[in-house]
Amino acid sequence: MIETRNDAAADWQRATCYLNGEWTSLLDAKVSVLDRGFIFGDGVYEVISVDTVAGRGGSLRAPFRANEHFARLQRSLDAVRIDNPLRLEQWLDLTAEVIERHPWPRQLVYVQVTRGAAKRDHPFPAGTVPTVFVSTSPWPTIPTEQIEHGVAAVTHVDERWLHCDIKSTSLLGNVLMKQYAIDHGASETVMLRDGYLTEGSSTNISVIKGGVISTPPKTVQLLPGITVDGIAQIAAQRGVKVDVRPVAASELKTADEIWLSSSGREVLAIVSLDGAPVGAAANTGKPGPMYRKMYEWFQQAKQEDARAWHAQRRGSAIKPDVSEQADEQRTQAV
Ligand code: PLP
Repeated sequence: MIETRNDAAADWQRATCYLNGEWTSLLDAKVSVLDRGFIFGDGVYEVISVDTVAGRGGSLRAPFRANEHFARLQRSLDAVRIDNPLRLEQWLDLTAEVIERHPWPRQLVYVQVTRGAAKRDHPFPAGTVPTVFVSTSPWPTIPTEQIEHGVAAVTHVDERWLHCDIKSTSLLGNVLMKQYAIDHGASETVMLRDGYLTEGSSTNISVIKGGVISTPPKTVQLLPGITVDGIAQIAAQRGVKVDVRPVAASELKTADEIWLSSSGREVLAIVSLDGAPVGAAANTGKPGPMYRKMYEWFQQAKQEDARAWHAQRRGSAIKPDVSEQADEQRTQAV
């Protein structure tokens, strides 16, 4: 076992995870080398953000849109023909428990299901039990610098397969595109297919022009993001027009604002694309006015969602924690 260091950065190493029905130390958890997730990337996953927000009777720690994440997990499982090993209530209980077992006010819960372990051969093996893995890690606060000043992105041809709608663990194409961004001093790669925007390496992309938010439709070319859906819903509630339509690559050059969104990064403004400033950022060097509004609205939406989660969990076997004090006690206990 790797020795853990007694500082916040090493905190994740002390995590507990759920693997095939048992809770075990993250660093001790093992799966077979024959697991098809390892051999073929034959599995699907979810990442769910957890934040602690102000509630009426104290602070509330809650996952954001957990039901939607498990609905997407079901769609991914169906698409790759793996029987869902758990019912929705069991997934929600597991999510509540993995959060509860860790002291961090902000977490990223990771859920993975693979087709299981079998002799290496391409066809689906008969009678294999899926591997179920649930873990969590501390979710660092999104740097104020990125919220206030935005991030840089670069473009690249989308070279991935045509099932990007499945949240598959086969992520090599995405990994290469993320590294492309890093290698070019940027924080995301915006991918283009046949002259149209698809998505980022690990984010969805929205383009804002004349007060309208445009985002590509849900096709096999991109992941139907929970966060971008949230943005569209929030915008619609506030009377901002959302256009779900194919977005031409050329529109990136004339956009007032470009946003990226994901569970881990929430919503961030892209202020520079391929080295050129985006829209309003040409003068200010900062995210535009629509971004500032959306950022605030998104934080409010998280509060509403946290209240809904706690209302939904009330009466379930695993009680959600409702006070900062409880968080503090857990922090001290670790
Ligand atoms: N697109 C890709 C390729 C992703 O990997 C992700 C998230 O990891 C997203 C979009 C955003 O999805 P979500 O908002 O559900 O996190």
